[in-house]
Amino acid sequence: MAIRQIREEGDPILRKKSREIEKIDDKILELLDDMYDTLKNSEDGVGLAAPQVGILKRAIVVDLSEEGGEGPYKLINPKIIKAKGEQICREGCLSVPGVLGDVIRPSEVVVEALNEKGEEVKIKAKDILAVVLCHEIDHLDGILFIDKATEFYDADEENNK
Ligand code: ZN
Repeated sequence: MAIRQIREEGDPILRKKSREIEKIDDKILELLDDMYDTLKNSEDGVGLAAPQVGILKRAIVVDLSEEGGEGPYKLINPKIIKAKGEQICREGCLSVPGVLGDVIRPSEVVVEALNEKGEEVKIKAKDILAVVLCHEIDHLDGILFIDKATEFYDADEENNK
């Protein structure tokens, strides 16, 4: 178990496309555990993608359990196979500190992935879980929420409201 350093905007690795994981070996399991520890160690983080810790592999962790929601999920090669509806959510990102932005996302998605055991899982998500999954999967393609946001806010000002 280890906390890894979170890469921030401006680091070119965040703009690269991550590769599919072909074999779930000890290195991948360690990566997922470390990503989970890194997420839990962060302030207010609910999701983390491997490129955010400098690894260009298609792995994400999502945990809304502290917010009364679902998780934790550790997902390998996640893919959105269905999306419908629209919602606007105020998003932030551990790689873009201090900034929040309103992003239009699907209101419901179905995500297909492998779990740590290599089993296929299908997650039907709506509301915040749908947003977080879309946000994290975007990271695997080098996309940040600031590319999609329509309005920006200062995170400190928002938190003091
Ligand atoms: Zn992010």
